[in-house]
Amino acid sequence: MSSSHTLDNIFSNNRRWAEEVQRDHPDFFPRLEKQQSPEYLWIGCADSRVSANEIMGLLPGEVFVHRNVANVVVHTDFNCLSVLQYAIDVLQVKHVIVTGHYGCGGVRAALENRSMGLIDNWLRNIKDVYFKHENLFTHLSADESAELLCEINVREQVGNVCHTTILQDAWKRGQAVTVHGLIYSLHDGILNDLDVNVSGMQDIPSIYRMYSDAEMLARLPSQRRRLQQSAQVGSQQQ
Ligand SMILES: [Zn+2]
Repeated sequence: MSSSHTLDNIFSNNRRWAEEVQRDHPDFFPRLEKQQSPEYLWIGCADSRVSANEIMGLLPGEVFVHRNVANVVVHTDFNCLSVLQYAIDVLQVKHVIVTGHYGCGGVRAALENRSMGLIDNWLRNIKDVYFKHENLFTHLSADESAELLCEINVREQVGNVCHTTILQDAWKRGQAVTVHGLIYSLHDGILNDLDVNVSGMQDIPSIYRMYSDAEMLARLPSQRRRLQQSAQVGSQQQ
């Protein structure tokens, strides 16, 4: 049996979709072909039930996407780092959205003590998150632990995004970009804000900062520098 035979359904769906778009929005493909200018970078789970565009109600061209098992941002993952660098430096996205989801198989597997092969090494990153916050899980059931770890994992990955030189260099040159942490529920399709919104180096622990406050101020455009200096004086006087 040829592979094209097994993909018939996909090709017929694609033709139907393309025809509908061309009929309803004749300028859609010509416009998309010329450029993409998304405002958002989505870093999410590879889970087939968590599709960035559909969940956020965005069209092709409106969100740049990176997905892996359990939405992990590893300091040495050149795949994720390359997506992040291109999105921020070239596409100039304004928001990086790290999105986890309840019921994540990767997170649940990380809580167990069984081997599934190579992926065990990837899930080790989530075991590290659990171990770092182990005291929070003391009295929880297995289901409660899995849900809490899904949320804490998002918070940790937001931190990992912010600790990269990519984000810090962007902030240093005065580029406005905010990193958010969200969690999605497979139960009702609702996306919730975990209220971790990081928009500058002042919000990350000092050990991870690549530049001093003085260096940051020196590199800002003069108007923003004056605003930040007056804001700092104001906060010191309170
Ligand atoms: Zn998942």
